[in-house]
Amino acid sequence: MKKVLKLVFCMAVLTVFFAVNAFGAEFFVIPSAGAETVLREIPTTFVYNADWQSLLETLSGSVTAADAVETVPETAGETATEAAAETAEAAGNEAGALEAAAAGEEAGAADAAAGETTENTEGAAVEAAVDVAPVATNNRVVCIDAGHQSKGNSAKEPIGPGASETKAKVAGGATGAATGVPEYQLTLDVALKLQSELQARGYTVIMCRTTNDVNISNAERAEIANSAGAGAFLRLHGNGAGSSGVSGAETLAPSTSNPYCSGIAAQSQALSKAVLNGLCAATGANNRGVKIADNMSGINWSRVPVTIVEMGYMSNPTEDTLMQDPSYQAKLAKGMADGVDAFFGL
Ligand SMILES: [Zn+2]
Repeated sequence: MKKVLKLVFCMAVLTVFFAVNAFGAEFFVIPSAGAETVLREIPTTFVYNADWQSLLETLSGSVTAADAVETVPETAGETATEAAAETAEAAGNEAGALEAAAAGEEAGAADAAAGETTENTEGAAVEAAVDVAPVATNNRVVCIDAGHQSKGNSAKEPIGPGASETKAKVAGGATGAATGVPEYQLTLDVALKLQSELQARGYTVIMCRTTNDVNISNAERAEIANSAGAGAFLRLHGNGAGSSGVSGAETLAPSTSNPYCSGIAAQSQALSKAVLNGLCAATGANNRGVKIADNMSGINWSRVPVTIVEMGYMSNPTEDTLMQDPSYQAKLAKGMADGVDAFFGL
């Protein structure tokens, strides 16, 4: 009975051996995850010249990737015929190549990872350029006051420092003849566009308001510009007239004999001229010139160069409609920003 078992065992071993010869180790080996890459690449010739222990280890899948690579030349060396040596050399080269390939792959992966990192970094940089990275500052501060607010404030305040004359803190403002849009909405829409335009050009921009639901008097708005140390204070408004036929833009500045702010008169007139010319050049609006006004609280309380920009007539249906066009609003903003640039000599 023992003889029969031995015979069966020998036949089984021989069958496996020849089958391996016929189909190659790859057919039989189900390597562990770690060995998979290396073992699959090992040529059939490796199995030919392997000793039994090596063969059985290989067949059992217990050889690790590192073992397999290390085993190749050793095993081949032990069974050295010239052909086997060649095979060993080939296997060794292959193992070396595998190592190189593995290293290369790893390096490639590292490159790829680095590439990905670079790409991500670049992506982040691009994003930063769009969303986060600050535009280089030009060290100029501009304050923008979007005229009026959702509800006027009829409480009075002095029209200037030490003045006995008083005016409503905030007037109600005009309404678009064709669109019905209130002045406070128009001024805010354009003010926000002007803010973006100026920021893109490197200005630091201070906004007196960014919503309609505020209650800030004209004197207080001037104080915001004063406190900010603004180099220019633009107060945006829409105009109104008894006749619907009147159209065009104009700016308001104090006179050199203004009892409250004569010190800023010349600069305010220069600012008013530059902004009006920029606005009219960008929009094609009728240029009605710089008007002198000494009864405006928001001007009289200013200690920095100031201008009131009457961007167009809301009482004129055509101009009212035009001023509700976002692309026209963008032109208004660009034109005013051009004027601010010109005022600063930029
Ligand atoms: Zn107004």
